[in-house]
Amino acid sequence: MTDLAETLQKADAYLRRFADHGVMNQIDGKAVPAASGRTFRSISPIDLKPLADIARGDAEDIDRAAKAAKAAFPAWRDTPPQTRRNILHAVADAIVARAEEIAIVESMDTGQPIRFMAKAAIRGAENFRFFADRAPSARDGQALPAPDQFNYTTRTPIGPVGIITPWNTPFMLSTWKIAPALAAGCTIVHKPAELSPLTARLLVEIAEGAGLPPGVWNLVNGMGEEAGKALTEHPDIKAIAFVGESGTGSLIMAQGAPTLKRVHFELGGKNPVVVFDDANLERALDAVVFMIYSLNGERCTSSSRVLVHSSIYETFTKQLAERAAAIRIGHPLDPATELGPLIHPDHFDKVSAYFHIAHKDGATIATGGAAADGPGGGCYVQPTLFTHARTGMRIAQEEVFGPVLTAIPFDDEAEALAIANDVAYGLAGYVWTNDLTRAFRFSEALEAGMIWVNSENVRHLPSPFGGMKASGIGRDGGDYSFDFYMETKNIAFATGMHRIPKLGA
Ligand code: NAD
Repeated sequence: MTDLAETLQKADAYLRRFADHGVMNQIDGKAVPAASGRTFRSISPIDLKPLADIARGDAEDIDRAAKAAKAAFPAWRDTPPQTRRNILHAVADAIVARAEEIAIVESMDTGQPIRFMAKAAIRGAENFRFFADRAPSARDGQALPAPDQFNYTTRTPIGPVGIITPWNTPFMLSTWKIAPALAAGCTIVHKPAELSPLTARLLVEIAEGAGLPPGVWNLVNGMGEEAGKALTEHPDIKAIAFVGESGTGSLIMAQGAPTLKRVHFELGGKNPVVVFDDANLERALDAVVFMIYSLNGERCTSSSRVLVHSSIYETFTKQLAERAAAIRIGHPLDPATELGPLIHPDHFDKVSAYFHIAHKDGATIATGGAAADGPGGGCYVQPTLFTHARTGMRIAQEEVFGPVLTAIPFDDEAEALAIANDVAYGLAGYVWTNDLTRAFRFSEALEAGMIWVNSENVRHLPSPFGGMKASGIGRDGGDYSFDFYMETKNIAFATGMHRIPKLGA
């Protein structure tokens, strides 16, 4: 990236088409307005000015998209997997070719700093390549021989699926859900978040431009309770892959019950990072700061609770406060910016409310705890650290989804474990210790779907991604994704003349 003035000029050029022509849905290979003709306005979190008018789809548009996905399904399912692989690699190539545009549009739409979004576009392309290469083996099953019988399993794509994504890092998350669905042979209807819909439009255009047949990937924008709900209720949609809040997951499960939807949920988190006194504290400090203050703290795997051994609590939290206070707030397109504006004034209000809640609960605000000045005057908050918190406080229990860290002291391993597990969520956990046996013991007992020992979140695409408790149902990644998007079928052959019971003989 070059300097801010030049990047702002590029942003103007990339965003002009959205401002001038709005954002259409994409159904059966065609850009279309909402059937009702209605739109909603998307605003920039930087200055709250309008970015674009977006097609406001509802049940009618979802029905058209689901029918298109259903009609396109047999041909896509039966497309040789090598061909699917080649098309998905072409999509990845096209993402890389437009990586700068994607990164800039994503930053302007979400407020996420460009230093992180530049990598998000490349990671999106990697998601397509990873699953493209696995398309030819997606159907492989097991050989399960038995006496007088030979069983084998095979997998077939489940059918048209619905994919519903949140606003925090929409481009990366959309590729993460859509690439395995397409590689498996499913067709899709994507409902992106209403607060940051722009790169979802770029993505479907890129995919069709790279050779994806019409109807395989349909896009319907709109509100969760309108378009999203209709998608989860549509009888032609066989499964819903959803990323978002835990409460929305509950709604979707109920909405999908009459049509027996298969669901995959990646939900919220209140993830502990546990720092023992024997850890490499310099590296632990870097990791804690990165995992809560990067991506504006709007990150499901953020280390939003830091549990620190009481012998090092004061020193460690003092260093944390110094680092947090030094984080550079700025325009998301400025390459120097580490923290940009939050997504929307409503979310700004939600995050800001926790400053008062912390105070009321009796925690100390060691740094931050207020709105911040930022270019454009948008939804900026200061990086915040609450200290001397206890596990029962709301700031230790509820997902804030902002650059807000709660630091809790503990006296021994048993107490650390009890505090770590004392939340409704169970997405990720981070453990810092140089005691090998303790690291194993602690990780085994920690209630989280993903645990990193002496590390920040470093994603490994074949490994399972997902949470337990209120953080989710199911896992993504490698073969886990295919298990969700495919049906497993068992086929049994008699291999001899086994005795068949004779009735009525
Ligand atoms: P959200 O649940 O409000 O919205 C997510 C999506 O669901 C949006 O597209 C929305 O329009 C749609 N939706 C809302 N109501 C619906 C309904 N009744 N039926 C169908 N769809 C509906 O979540 P958000 O505020 O956009 O995102 C933030 C949340 O996402 C946080 O809780 C965060 O932890 C979570 N998240 C989880 C992961 C993960 O991998 N576990 C990753 C990123 C974000």
